[in-house]
Amino acid sequence: MDFSTLTDVYQELEKTSSRLEMTSIVSEFLKRVPEEELPVILLFIRGRVFPAWSDKELGIGNKLIIRAISAVSGASEATVENRIRDMGDTGLAAESLLVKKAQTTLFREKLTVMKVYENLHRLASLSGKGSQERKISYITELLSFAEPTEARYIVRLILEELRLGVGEGIVKDAIARAFQVDPKLVERAYSISSDLGEVARISKLEGDEGLRKVTLKTCRPIEVMLAQKIGGIEEAIEKFGETAFEIKYDGARIQIHKEDGRIELYTRRLENVTRQFPEIVKSARENIRARSAIVEGELVAIKSKKDRRPRPFQDLSRRIKRKYDIPEMVKNIPVEVNLFDLVFYDGESKIGDEFRDRRKLLEKIITETDIFRLADQIITDNVREAERFYRNALSLGHEGVMAKNLRAPYQPGSRVGYMYKIKPVMETLDLVIIGATWGEGRRAHWLASFLLAVSDPDTGRFLTIGRMGTGFTDEEFKEMTELLRGEITEQVGKEVRLKPKIVVEVAYEEIQRSPTYSSGYALRFPRLVRIRTDKGPEDADTLQRVEEILKGVTT
Ligand code: AMP
Repeated sequence: MDFSTLTDVYQELEKTSSRLEMTSIVSEFLKRVPEEELPVILLFIRGRVFPAWSDKELGIGNKLIIRAISAVSGASEATVENRIRDMGDTGLAAESLLVKKAQTTLFREKLTVMKVYENLHRLASLSGKGSQERKISYITELLSFAEPTEARYIVRLILEELRLGVGEGIVKDAIARAFQVDPKLVERAYSISSDLGEVARISKLEGDEGLRKVTLKTCRPIEVMLAQKIGGIEEAIEKFGETAFEIKYDGARIQIHKEDGRIELYTRRLENVTRQFPEIVKSARENIRARSAIVEGELVAIKSKKDRRPRPFQDLSRRIKRKYDIPEMVKNIPVEVNLFDLVFYDGESKIGDEFRDRRKLLEKIITETDIFRLADQIITDNVREAERFYRNALSLGHEGVMAKNLRAPYQPGSRVGYMYKIKPVMETLDLVIIGATWGEGRRAHWLASFLLAVSDPDTGRFLTIGRMGTGFTDEEFKEMTELLRGEITEQVGKEVRLKPKIVVEVAYEEIQRSPTYSSGYALRFPRLVRIRTDKGPEDADTLQRVEEILKGVTT
């Protein structure tokens, strides 16, 4: 397929923000795509060159792109940079600089989708000495064949800045529509293969029948089963009878895939994080006694191998993001895995099996080590015993417990009520708003992000503890703006300082220590519960209360 056919579709998609219209554009387009090109098209349509689970990445920054555009267009690098600044978009800048060039080129080979894909694929596998130059040559080759509009999109693809808003949901609907297959089967096939290209190809060639046959494969992540909330221990036991209670570890969910000596690690968002955790790869290789398996667990950053108390989530997040100096990270931020499920074993999918049996098999094939462990579990229908387990989990610094239905199968990608999370209800805080920022775009006339503070009765000062911009309806934004407009004491740019007057009740995920705010703490994901018109700043919560809550929850 010519690349220009795809750019026509990109242009059409760019003109609309309607989900329905996008679905119809994509589905009409998919009908025209030859089956062998479907996998590539399904990546490109979402602005990707590799699927999330691939360990390949392009790693092309602005600098290299500027050099490539300069080389092809004949404009100096400074000119390219200026053009990007003026137009606010590297793709459009490339397009405009290549227009002149296009008029003077008489003969040019027509660019195909596969040619673009091949060059980008080759480029991603280059590393080491001289690789930068070779990467540029692959890009310049594409840009010199490209029509100006094609160049716009090639550049955006390379920089991963396509941003057409074509999400996974739209693509799934479009596949079902284009090939007249059951959307539920598309959903299911995707949730266990995580491969839209393959799902599209099967839909086209084999229809519903083929989709039904899609099954798990190692080294392809699955969409994980999700948990729901429940009132408490008693409710869970009422629902499930005998229930498995496990510690709810506070980290990141991880899938470990083993196929002979090969180990791959994926996050809940299907990203490949194998390279970041060599110690887990080694543990998995040595301690999963199976030829092939997919097991699941929670990856947690811990204080040390001896003191296994959890560290803040940010530490784990640093390890997930870091792609270099890995050995140093392994030493500085130790991690452990707490395994809690098994979905594949020696060539067979286990998702239809009951949780009770999956866990038994997991116990059978895992050799526990200090960093590779089974999640602590009790099985009981006794509320008091379960409550003891829960309190103990909290006292060890964990988030809470999970309650699991022993007889339930594994349902990839769904919140089906087979497992529930039980955590302490976070106490809300009444906080004073002492600053805000004017919004952007549609919200330009509203104050849109609010600086929150606790009071410090010892000094009479207000100490900041976070910024809140979510949880508001349009009405509430308006109301807040009206309430606060008269309290503005100073404005610098979009930032305003406010007299401490308005009190809001705020919920949050967690309180963390933080040097960013003057209280020394930060609220994670603060959201508005309501405006406390009944309270004045003197009634706001104090720094001391924040410290008490923190102690109560974390010790
Ligand atoms: P939440 O993210 O609040 O919906 O809670 C569910 C998440 O808790 C899961 O996706 C896992 O990442 C995590 N988790 C921690 N411990 C366990 C466990 N023992 N079983 C299942 N999930 C767990």
